[in-house]
Amino acid sequence: MMKRNITLILILLILFNIFEGKLSIEKSDKMSNMDVRAGIYVVYATSNGGIFNVTYNQMSTYSFDPEINVTIDFNGMRRWGLYSLKNRTLLAGTLKSWRYFPLWISKYIGENDSLILFNSEFKVVAKNSETITVSNETLTLIYSRFTGSLINGDIILDGKLIHLQFNRTNMKFRIRYFNEIYPDWENLTLTLRQLNYTYHKILRVYSAGKSILGRDVWVCEIPARRREANILLIDGGMHGSEVISVKAALTIVRRILVDYNNIRELENTTIIVIPMLNPDGVEVSKYLPAQPSLMLRYSRKNARGVDLNRNFNYEWEKGGTSNYDSSTFRGIKPETEPEVKTLKQILENRNITFYINLHSGINAILIPAYNVNPYLDLYLSKIARGMSNILGYEVRKGGVYGGSADWALLGKDKATLSIIIELYGDKSKISEDWFLFYNPAEAYQVNEIVDKTYYTILYVLSNLNSWKNELKAENRSILNIQVIMASIAMLTIFISITLYICKRKIQTGSS
Ligand SMILES: [Zn+2]
Repeated sequence: MMKRNITLILILLILFNIFEGKLSIEKSDKMSNMDVRAGIYVVYATSNGGIFNVTYNQMSTYSFDPEINVTIDFNGMRRWGLYSLKNRTLLAGTLKSWRYFPLWISKYIGENDSLILFNSEFKVVAKNSETITVSNETLTLIYSRFTGSLINGDIILDGKLIHLQFNRTNMKFRIRYFNEIYPDWENLTLTLRQLNYTYHKILRVYSAGKSILGRDVWVCEIPARRREANILLIDGGMHGSEVISVKAALTIVRRILVDYNNIRELENTTIIVIPMLNPDGVEVSKYLPAQPSLMLRYSRKNARGVDLNRNFNYEWEKGGTSNYDSSTFRGIKPETEPEVKTLKQILENRNITFYINLHSGINAILIPAYNVNPYLDLYLSKIARGMSNILGYEVRKGGVYGGSADWALLGKDKATLSIIIELYGDKSKISEDWFLFYNPAEAYQVNEIVDKTYYTILYVLSNLNSWKNELKAENRSILNIQVIMASIAMLTIFISITLYICKRKIQTGSS
């Protein structure tokens, strides 16, 4: 009997583990966060012809748990509340009857899940591609699946029942781009699950960490076929507004999987791709207003308002700004952000041979730490020039203090060759919509860019060994120079001492 129980427990444990492994992609599906940022407003019409104005205001300073300041104007009455973006709870303010914010919910809440609104339990009664409906049998509220924002329903404010109907907003719904071209986090998750299933023999998908609002930062790893001598690391979506970099990173994974048997270099090279390093930023880029001055900073940065590419610990205090409102706010200290820690860990714990950091905003290849780059010859004559020939982009003097590429090359113990590819930029679109400044509007444009990027990756793969050897030789010669300098210094000291002693001897002799 005892034996049978143990066997049963073992079987259950094994099953649970397999199940857990398969389901790992779904772990973050149910979240209590909300993807709203300062600068957004939503106007509702009430059933008696009134106007119910909701404004989402500036969070005043950097906060470990990001907050949103909400103001409601209704019938000449004003209420405000400070809410946590992580779990929708009231932190301060006069909206005391709303312990949990009812106007914005998590899009990942699933059918049969429940949430607390107006001190009562609401169940998700319907969820489709456009809306999420919740009800407590008396009241019903309908939310947008695209944003998580309330579309219409009955709310209770100060004991009064008010029916709200969405009227207008300054949000810009980029539904077509995200339906037809670019993946959001949920779509990426589903795509990776599919790829993992189809290519389970050659692809590993795992979460390397979580974003501020709880989204998994997915990693795709294609291990070397025989022996791992090199690792190529690629990341996209470090700036949430630059979703072309997410698309490019994901497509590179897909193309490598398809061409797997024809890529000779995969015998000894492992590929690691992080398609979306800043999922919270990507999520809001779907609908933040079009004015760049107002909104760009929130989609570019993480949910705590930190520019991830200014938070690394290499010359951190010289990069970005200390101004929280700025689009390049570097954080209050280096390496405070979980997304940064996730990337840093991979760069530190794995023996990465080459690191490619994907961005957009211009068409260029940026050489990291240009002014102090000790391997500039190698970059100018081979790495950047070869990449430029394929991409057709100019090579520029790069270098971002507090950026990941500079840190990889010079900030960590062992230098990792790194480069930034800026995939696309169209300044003429900035007045229309910042999104189109950073990302092409048409699929064929995206395909052209991603195609070129893929061939650039193949070029990098075929040169990894020789670049690695040049880096070693360069390091050896740097080391040799150091040894020679030290020897000269020692010799000088030795000669000086000998001369001094001789002089003393001569002097003593003469007196
Ligand atoms: Zn960028």
